Amino acid sequence: MSPTLSIVWFRQDLRLRDNPALTAAAGHGRILPVYILDDANPGEWRPGAASRWWLQQSLAALDASLDGKLWLLTGDPLELLPQLAARHGATHVFWNRCYEPWHVRRDRQLKQVLTHDGLTVTSSNGSLIWEPWTSLKDDGTPYRVFTPFYRNARGNCAAPGEPLQKPRNLALADCPQGADKLARLDLMPGIRWYDGLATNWTPGEDGAHNKLRYFLEHGLADYKDGRDFPARRAVSRLSPHLHFGEVSPTQAWQAAARRGAQDGREQATEHFQRELAWREFSYSLLYHFPQLTNRNMNERFDAFPWTREKKLLQAWQRGETGLPLVDAGMRELWETGYMHNRVRMVVGSFLVKNLLHHWLDGARWFWDTLVDADLANNTASWQWVAGCGADAAPYFRIFNPVTQSQRFDPDGDYIRRFVPELKDLPARYIHEPSKVPAGVLSEAGVVLGKNYPKPVVSLSQTRERALEAYQRIKG
Ligand code: FAD
Repeated sequence: MSPTLSIVWFRQDLRLRDNPALTAAAGHGRILPVYILDDANPGEWRPGAASRWWLQQSLAALDASLDGKLWLLTGDPLELLPQLAARHGATHVFWNRCYEPWHVRRDRQLKQVLTHDGLTVTSSNGSLIWEPWTSLKDDGTPYRVFTPFYRNARGNCAAPGEPLQKPRNLALADCPQGADKLARLDLMPGIRWYDGLATNWTPGEDGAHNKLRYFLEHGLADYKDGRDFPARRAVSRLSPHLHFGEVSPTQAWQAAARRGAQDGREQATEHFQRELAWREFSYSLLYHFPQLTNRNMNERFDAFPWTREKKLLQAWQRGETGLPLVDAGMRELWETGYMHNRVRMVVGSFLVKNLLHHWLDGARWFWDTLVDADLANNTASWQWVAGCGADAAPYFRIFNPVTQSQRFDPDGDYIRRFVPELKDLPARYIHEPSKVPAGVLSEAGVVLGKNYPKPVVSLSQTRERALEAYQRIKG
């Protein structure tokens, strides 16, 4: 009798270590590992351009760690997986669960089809510390506020365990696909705008662990105080690695716990773990409120009088608003596929409140340009910034990009890096060039309206306009 063949279906878990689906399959005999690029089921939330770039590199790394035996397919898994199983006589299919509404729908259907075909389907938790149905209120309903969600998860849910090792002696089925199998997925964007991404990131499991090690060594100690300052290297930059599952949240959580205990920095660890828990909270929200991706969680905002002026949206996207912190953030995004969290909040607030654009316009742009574009985190964060989400910032708390800049980029280092035309302005003037004496501007080579834009809107007037608009829907 030929040995059992199991399919391991990789999705947002592109790693060998701490991969429960792979570990479970390894105990069952031979393995056929497969990744399927599914652009059919996610609809408008199919991977954006930056994510596709990342995916290409990450799949190459995963394939190399599987000795070139990763199968790569494109199409609808609802058709492809049953065909693959039948063609190769697979008896089991293993995967780690995903929680996006379209994933949940598709996987449920797929499980039915495969089970009907006589296969055994085993799904595991490989992406979250607390799956969405674990941290619930006493009455069984989901939390809408982070702090009680977190308190309950830490106090009453299973603590993260020790991460799994890479399974030993993986018996992999041969893969007949040629050397061009990755190119045939056609993931790389036509226009070559991604060189900046390549110099900033190393996708893949090794790249993820190097990033984690670097953070524990150089960032964790300053995390509590430094995480709000975009020019400091105090945050982990693990978000794309976590999104693609090159490192699991459990691995990050436990590694930080070990390092914190070793260095006597338990407080810094607690702060970092709390941020990881925000990701868990976003997933819980998305799972329980799947309409969140396109609808305001607070329906009162359905009547909000958005204006949507294309020119203003473009100025925001290009980092040409005349507000240096906003422009630095938007250019960091374009150049590196990433933006610091503090600046994400500032540019988000500016788009939604000062420019009166719908949060979905921002969410869609981020979706296309972020290497860490993640439906749960992106949606929950945009709704939070817009004031219409769960546990949202009160609408009237409007970030002022100038005072945020003075407070969190006091020396202007972050602005200088991404808005080089302002690099010669003294720190006290760099945050608001439109208020700088003409002589200082000309000494620094800045000509407003020529080599750096004048502000596209007045902060004070648009702030008043936003508050008035809010009064109208407040009811
Ligand atoms: P660290 O501070 O090192 O945190 C470690 C990890 O915790 C992060 O990698 C992330 O997985 C998680 N985390 C940290 N902050 C948050 C948060 N506020 N909400 C949820 N999880 C968090 N994050 C994404 O991963 N994908 C997105 O598409 C995304 N879109 C966002 C859009 C807006 C408008 C805003 C305000 C925030 C968004 N975030 C998103 C959340 C946050 O900005 C990023 O997770 C964080 O900046 C990633 O950097 P880091 O890995 O260095 O974070």
